[in-house]
Amino acid sequence: MAGFDAARMRMVRSHLAGRGVSDARVLAAMAQVPRERFVDPGMEEFAYEDSPLPIGEGQTISQPYIVALMLEAAEISPNDRVLEVGTGSGYAAALMSRLARHVHTIERHASLADEARARFARLDYDNIDVHTADGTRGWPEGAPFDAILVAAGAPAPPQALREQLAIGGRLVIPVGDEGLVQELLKIRRTGEDTFEQESLGAVMFVPLVGEQGWAEDGRRAASRHVPAAARGDDAASLIAEHAIPLPDVDDDAFADAFERFAEARVVMLGECSHGTSEFYAARAAITRRLVERHGFTLVAVEADWPDASVINRHVRHLPRRPHGPVFTRFPAWMWRNREIAALAAWMRQYNEGRDYEAQVGFYGLDIYSLNASIEAVLEYLDRVDPEAAVVARERYGCLTPWQRSPEVYGRAALRAGHALCEEAVVRQCRELLEHRLGIVDGLSLDHLDAAQNARLVASAERYYRVMYYGGAESWNLRDEHMADTLDALLQAHGPRSRAVVWAHNSHIGDARHTDMGQSRGEHNIGQLVRQRHSGEVALVGFGTHAGTVAAAHDWGDEMEVMDVRPSRTGSIEHLCHGSGVPRFLLDLCEGHDDAMRRALSEPLLQRFIGVIYRPATELQSHYARASLARQYDGYVWFDETRAVDALEAPATDAGEVPETYPFGV
Ligand code: SAH
Repeated sequence: MAGFDAARMRMVRSHLAGRGVSDARVLAAMAQVPRERFVDPGMEEFAYEDSPLPIGEGQTISQPYIVALMLEAAEISPNDRVLEVGTGSGYAAALMSRLARHVHTIERHASLADEARARFARLDYDNIDVHTADGTRGWPEGAPFDAILVAAGAPAPPQALREQLAIGGRLVIPVGDEGLVQELLKIRRTGEDTFEQESLGAVMFVPLVGEQGWAEDGRRAASRHVPAAARGDDAASLIAEHAIPLPDVDDDAFADAFERFAEARVVMLGECSHGTSEFYAARAAITRRLVERHGFTLVAVEADWPDASVINRHVRHLPRRPHGPVFTRFPAWMWRNREIAALAAWMRQYNEGRDYEAQVGFYGLDIYSLNASIEAVLEYLDRVDPEAAVVARERYGCLTPWQRSPEVYGRAALRAGHALCEEAVVRQCRELLEHRLGIVDGLSLDHLDAAQNARLVASAERYYRVMYYGGAESWNLRDEHMADTLDALLQAHGPRSRAVVWAHNSHIGDARHTDMGQSRGEHNIGQLVRQRHSGEVALVGFGTHAGTVAAAHDWGDEMEVMDVRPSRTGSIEHLCHGSGVPRFLLDLCEGHDDAMRRALSEPLLQRFIGVIYRPATELQSHYARASLARQYDGYVWFDETRAVDALEAPATDAGEVPETYPFGV
């Protein structure tokens, strides 16, 4: 159990105290109650994730931070009698039982109530009464209560709960007209008929279903009037008003709207899934425009350097180096698709007859090509400096035992107590970067290639080592490597060089304005490039409401074309869908449409589909909170999208077909 204890302490430190929860009794209770005993069997390893988790009956166990926030707001003292509405797993009630004298908790689903009761018995928590009932009526037999916590979103604070508060008592309850996003309210009863109310910010709960809550079908059950203009509608109409409609991606005019970003030195184009055709086609159209009219000569994408380097040589009409078919590593569809093959064909045509400096190049920014990069460095040195190749072989030999499964290297280094191969790979990298190894003219691209591969091996050595500790560090290292690689490219191509970057929204949307940065301590390439090249960067996110996507259910599984679930109520996607405009660009740059920027600066749910898509647990797996207007300078919307057109990997012995090189199909 030591693993859970450590994870729990980490949760208290970084997710709770780190975000400003300071009540010592609340933190002590959170450090004591074993959350792993309240999740469904099989979910224990996720118990200390910074998110809600599914329990039975389509309900969720709340995110630890939100529970702590509510407990702190409730100001529970050791002698208090408290009520919870929405027992769910029982986790919050268990915490309350450590803080108060007695807890009543009400759950409408008998099966959940029974399970919670059994959990309390197993843990010997004997000051909790669990009731199966409609909690919107409160529990008059136990009233008055010093504190009442409601763990489900209500259309308005139920009258019964206000009445059952003691004078001075606190009611903490999420309230909102939209189904999923609510405002967390703290209501204090200051007298017989007087209440004070304070807002604790936006939260997201399952609906409170009952007589004074919502009806089963989501409509308001309580009879009082609901104001028609919900906050969501206002934002959707602001979007409709300010959206710049886009023509079809195949239309030459598609890229016109993006001229506004052409002044930037780096334009970063995102995607909200790794398998959506429209995002590739749109990014290709924008890239072509920036290259043709605005002097952009670098295209750098979230792909492996050695594979991208094959494409780079191909589009520049340079002689081939030995290399198999490109982009065959999982997830192959991400770069091995018809959309990218078409872009490469266009680049090759564009470059024909142009000088090297005026040509457009294609590069990979990612960190996952340890083996291929080692081979590339050795192949290069064999050619230009066989003596240096001998030394490099010996240095890289340190990694040989782990080359096939580098994840294991982290564990070995941890056991050995030191970074086994760090010195060797760092020294190799430094040597390639510093000594130009007597390079003659014409080999500079070759040298850049080898130096980048050596940099990659050094980053990857660290990456696999820190990955073993988990947490934000390996993510950060990967994005730092991407930002450093981009800088190396900009530098190698001279002071006037300009780049288009393609990477997932999670990499390019400034992490300081998302859950990633705010609660997990993660940064990303979008943030780093904004900080390093202030005022010279345009970050453009992409989103969609529904359609199909190419993705896998699990790492290494077959690619499937899956249906994308329609966007969630309360999400940014839902607002964009509500605008009724099928394709558009939002200009989120400062000084432009300030009313809209303000509305879209509030943190809202945003959908992130990567290589993996799990529709069944979409909310937990794919939605996070982010402020759209702060994260991006522009946002591109395709209401309906379809899966990217993946190319089959060629049979291993297939002879190369010249026209389709380097994809080899
Ligand atoms: N506090 C819980 C979170 C539960 S989620 C935990 O720590 O795990 C909210 C719960 O409220 C769900 O289990 C849902 O079934 C329940 N619920 C919704 N409406 C209710 C009502 N009117 N009365 C009682 N429970 C309700």
